[in-house]
Amino acid sequence: MAPVEMSAPVSVVAGGKTAKALRDGLQIVTVGDLLRHYPRRYIDPGELTDLASLQVGEHATVFAEVVSAGTRRMQQRKGTVTEVVVSDGRGRISLVFFNQAWRSESQLRTGRRGLFAGTVSAYGGTRQLAHPRFVMLPDAGEADAEGEAAFADLIIPVYPSTAGLPSWRIQQAVRLALDAVWPGGSTEPPLSGSDANDPLPPAVRMRHGLLSFADALRAVHRPPDRESIELGQRRLRFEEAFGLQAVLAQRRHEMRTQAAQARERRAGGLLEAFDARLHLQLTPAQSRVGEEISVDLEQTHPMHRLLQGDVGSGKTLVALRAMLQVVDAGGQAALLAPTEVLAQQHLRTLQAFLGPLAEGGLLGGDDQGTRLAFLSGSQTAKVRREELAAIASGEAGIVVGTHALLEDTVEFADLGLVVVDEQHRFGVEQRAALAERAGDGLRPHVLVMTATPIPRTVAMTVFGDLDVSVIDGYPPGRGTIATHVVAPREHPAHLTRAWQRVREEVAAGRKVFVVCPRIGDDGADLGDEDIGSVEPETHPVSAVLDVTAELSERFLPDLRVGMVYGRMSADNKDEAMRRLAAPHDDPDALDVLVATTVIEVGVDVPSASTMVVLDADRFGISQLHQLRGRIARGGEDGLCLLVTAADPDTPARERLSAVAATTDGFALARVDLQARREGDILGTLQSGRRSSLRLLEVIRDEDVVLEARDAATQIVEDDPRLSRWPALRAHIADIASDDRSDFLEKG
Ligand code: ADP
Ligand code: MG
Repeated sequence: MAPVEMSAPVSVVAGGKTAKALRDGLQIVTVGDLLRHYPRRYIDPGELTDLASLQVGEHATVFAEVVSAGTRRMQQRKGTVTEVVVSDGRGRISLVFFNQAWRSESQLRTGRRGLFAGTVSAYGGTRQLAHPRFVMLPDAGEADAEGEAAFADLIIPVYPSTAGLPSWRIQQAVRLALDAVWPGGSTEPPLSGSDANDPLPPAVRMRHGLLSFADALRAVHRPPDRESIELGQRRLRFEEAFGLQAVLAQRRHEMRTQAAQARERRAGGLLEAFDARLHLQLTPAQSRVGEEISVDLEQTHPMHRLLQGDVGSGKTLVALRAMLQVVDAGGQAALLAPTEVLAQQHLRTLQAFLGPLAEGGLLGGDDQGTRLAFLSGSQTAKVRREELAAIASGEAGIVVGTHALLEDTVEFADLGLVVVDEQHRFGVEQRAALAERAGDGLRPHVLVMTATPIPRTVAMTVFGDLDVSVIDGYPPGRGTIATHVVAPREHPAHLTRAWQRVREEVAAGRKVFVVCPRIGDDGADLGDEDIGSVEPETHPVSAVLDVTAELSERFLPDLRVGMVYGRMSADNKDEAMRRLAAPHDDPDALDVLVATTVIEVGVDVPSASTMVVLDADRFGISQLHQLRGRIARGGEDGLCLLVTAADPDTPARERLSAVAATTDGFALARVDLQARREGDILGTLQSGRRSSLRLLEVIRDEDVVLEARDAATQIVEDDPRLSRWPALRAHIADIASDDRSDFLEKG
C-alpha cells in the first residue's frame, strides 16, 4: 500500500464521526495535524491515576479501579441512576449514569480497572466525572475489541481530548495514521537517507543526535518505555524551535536584501557639538550600545534593532545620539511615543538635552542646530500645518509624536531613522506604515526601545528578526528602592504607618505617587490604561476618585493631593505632572499624586521618592516594576509600598513578594513569564487557534532554542529558499499559516 501523505485529510485514518469530532473539537484536519497531536500524559497500567490532582472543570482521563457500583430508582422521575465509585487506592471519585443499569452488571464490577473520561465536577462535596465514558481493561477470555486496543501498549498515551472524543479513540486513530504514513513499520531510514516527511535535514539530525521523524512520533505515541518518550520529545521539541528559527532566519536574510541609505558619522557635526556640551558621562553600556547603533546606521541595509534597558537605564540619550548622527548625514529622525503624555515628555527631554542645538534657524539658536517638530492628535489645525511644513521641507531634523506621525498626510523630506519607544504598545500596521516612508524603495533604519525586559530566548523567538542591544546597568546617582508588602487585613496598623511615612517624605521635601487600579467614575474604567488585572474581582478595588477624596479628607488632610488618569485631557495631565514636579515651596505644588497606570512609562519627577500602590495584587509583576521605576530618579533612595488585601500564600501574594525581593527587572521578567502559561506569552490564547509550539517552552528550553537557532541560520544561509529541503519548506509554510506568524509580525 502506498504511504499516506501528511497532508491527507484525517478521514483517511478515522471514521466519519471521529474525523468530525477531531476537526470540530481539536482543529485536527490532516493526518499531519493528528500525528502532531501529542499525548499530554502517559498511564502506566501498573499505576492508578492520582485522583487528588484532578481540577474541577477539566476534561480528564483517569485510570482507576471500581470500588462499588449500585443502581437505584429515581424518586422524582422515572428511570434509574447508576452510581459507580472508582478509586486510585487513596482518593475516590464517582461516575453517574442515568438509565444505564445494565452497565454496572458485568463491565463495572468491583475490582475491575479501566480508563474513565469526563469533565470533573464537584457535586455536594464529592467530585464526579460528568457524562463519563470508559473502557475497561479486558478480563481474561473476554471479547472486547476496544479494551484490547486501548490497553495494547505497555504505556497508555493520554491525549488532550473532548467530551465527544475520548482519549482512547484518538489513540486508535493515531495508531492507524502511523501505520498509514510509514507502512510496514519501517521507521528507521538509513542515517544519511531522508524521509520525505522529515522537516529536519539529516545533517542537523545527526549533529544533534536526534531521532528520525517517524521514530520520534512512534516514541511519543506508542512508547515502549519512559526513556523513549524523552527521546521522542527531545527531537520534536528541537524541531519546533528549528522551524520557528528557520522562518526568522529567512526574514533576516530577506531584510538584508532591503536597501536603506547609509547615514555616516560626520566630523564637526551636530553630534559632536552635542557631546561637547553634554555634562554627563555616558555609561559603559550606553557607549557600547551607541557604537552598535552607529555602525548599523552606516550600512546600506536598514537597521532593525531592539534596544532593551530597564526603566531608568538611559535609553533616551542613546536614541537621541543616534538621531543626531542621522541629522548630521542630512536625514530626519522620528521618535514615536505610545501616548500623548509620553510624547510631550520626550519633547521636553530632547529640548532640555539639546538646548540651543534644538533651535536651529531660530534667533539665538545655534547655527549647527536643527529644529524639533512635534505632532499630536490634539494640536490646533494651525500649529499642525506649521509642523507639517517643517517636516516636509526638511527644516525639522527631529520629529516627536504619537500615532499621528504615521498618518498619510505626514510627509517627510528624508526620513532616515524611526525610533519607537515602548514597542509593546505599537502594532504591526504602524511599523509597516513607517517602513514605507523613506521613498525610492529605501527603508528607514528602525530602533525599537523597550523597558520591559525580555529574557533572551523570548526575545529571540518573539523578536528573532531584530538584533538586540541591551543596556545593563544604570547611570550613576540612582537611589535604591526598598519595597515592602503591606497587608492591612493581617496588620491594620501598617496602613496607618504607611500614610505616616508618606507625611515624613513630604516633610522632607519629597513627592509621592499613590497608584490605583481604577479611575472610579463609572463601571467600565479601563479606557486607555490597560490595568493588567490578573485575578477576578473579589472586593471593591481602589479607585482614583475615591482615594483622592479619602486622602485629602481623612488620611492626609494636611497635604496637597492631586490626581491624574488617562482620560483627562492632555493639558490637564501635563498640568498635574508639572505641579507634582514643582518645588515644595511653590504655592501651586502638589505633594501627593493619585494616579492610574498612566504614569507607568516614562514619567519623570526626580523628587518623587515614594510610591504607594493600592490593591497591588491587581497588577502584574512587570507592571509593578515599571511603576516603581517612577521613583528614586533624583539620586535619593526610594520607598515602594505594595498594599494588598490578598490572602497570604496565594499566587497574588507570591507575585508581590517577588517584586519586593528584587529590583532586577530581568529577574522579575523571568518570574513573571514562568508564572504564566506559555501560550499567554506567545499570544495564542486570545485567538484560540493552534500554535506551532506544543512541546517547546522558550524559557525552560533555552538551550534548545539556542542550538536550533544556530542550526537553522546555517541551513538558511546555505540555501535561503530551502530548495533542497522540501519537507522543511512545507513545514515552514504550515507555521506561517498558523497563529504564530501573526505573533511574529507583531515583533
Ligand atoms: P529610560 O528611558 O531608559 O527609562 P532615561 O533615558 O529616562 O531612562 O534616563 C533616566 C535618567 O537618567 C534621565 O534623567 C537621564 O537624563 C539620566 N541619564 C541618562 N544617561 C545618563 C548618564 N550617562 N549619566 C547620568 N545620568 C544619565
Ligand atoms: Mg524612557
